[in-house]
Amino acid sequence: MNALRTIVLCAAMMLWTHACPAAPGDLAGMYSAEQLDEWQLGIKPLVSQVLDEDVLPLLSTSIRDALRKKSFGVDVMNSAGDPFSFQRSGARIEVPTIGLRLLHDLLLAHVWLETNHFEDQSVLYVLALRYRSPGEFPGGRYLPPLEALGVPKSISEGDLDVTASLRFEKLFRSALFFIIAHETCHAIQFTIDDLKHRTTLEVESEADIFAFMLMARQQVDPSGVTWIFLYRTAWDSGDSDFYAMGSPPSDLPLAPSARVSLLGEEIRRDPASYFPGVDTTDPRVRALKVIGETLSELGKQLLPISTRQAGQDIASAVDIADLAIHRPRTQ
Ligand SMILES: [Zn+2]
Repeated sequence: MNALRTIVLCAAMMLWTHACPAAPGDLAGMYSAEQLDEWQLGIKPLVSQVLDEDVLPLLSTSIRDALRKKSFGVDVMNSAGDPFSFQRSGARIEVPTIGLRLLHDLLLAHVWLETNHFEDQSVLYVLALRYRSPGEFPGGRYLPPLEALGVPKSISEGDLDVTASLRFEKLFRSALFFIIAHETCHAIQFTIDDLKHRTTLEVESEADIFAFMLMARQQVDPSGVTWIFLYRTAWDSGDSDFYAMGSPPSDLPLAPSARVSLLGEEIRRDPASYFPGVDTTDPRVRALKVIGETLSELGKQLLPISTRQAGQDIASAVDIADLAIHRPRTQ
């Protein structure tokens, strides 16, 4: 009798689990498993190329050798959970397929909207994904970025003009470069440094600066970095609560808005250090100083709107169906 009751209870639990709607922010089902499998196969070579051709040649031979001994490399994984969780496990970089797909589609939508002089509502869309339930979206499920933002289907199939297409490729590669270089720094920290005595603030800040330094040396367009921080601020808004309350960051999760502020300040303070041996009047140094100021300003603007409460308030005011309606850009 007891066994029967257990079976009935388990069956009821299973039914309940399946019937239970996804919680806000749970993106499972936004793309089908087949779509993600296919995408994973397609994106892996590009991610490996960014690591092998863009990032690794900039490291010293001794660091490359030390990493190689720890089986350093990058894995694109079909994992559930936080789509923006690009991380290190041991000396390996792990990037979620869904996060790369989301970032790719958000940036593609951004370039199409920008090219057509339409307002870009992609950050509002990310906030809606984070805080609104799938049932509130048209059709009762989370729509992928291109659909939600009203981008024609033909665009995802490559129907962009040459200029927009190049702009998108540059932007996406810039974002990938920053992600891979940041995680490479964590792999180096893990392989070479003693992380025990270092705070999250130090470790994260060092990885951001390291990634940016490699980008500056390679003269990679940094605009992808801005979008990563914008989307991460929208997604991780709760992490900023500590900062809004004025608590010292010490070992707390480092909010994206605080990270971009620190990064901008660091670049602005000494842009010449990113180009060893180059004169401070060099145009690259001056351009980098402006980038530092822009990032620092972006961080300051994001900070007050990046608490969980602010994220929820903004998300609750979003008219989700309206995200697909295009309006001329005002500035
Ligand atoms: Zn990190």
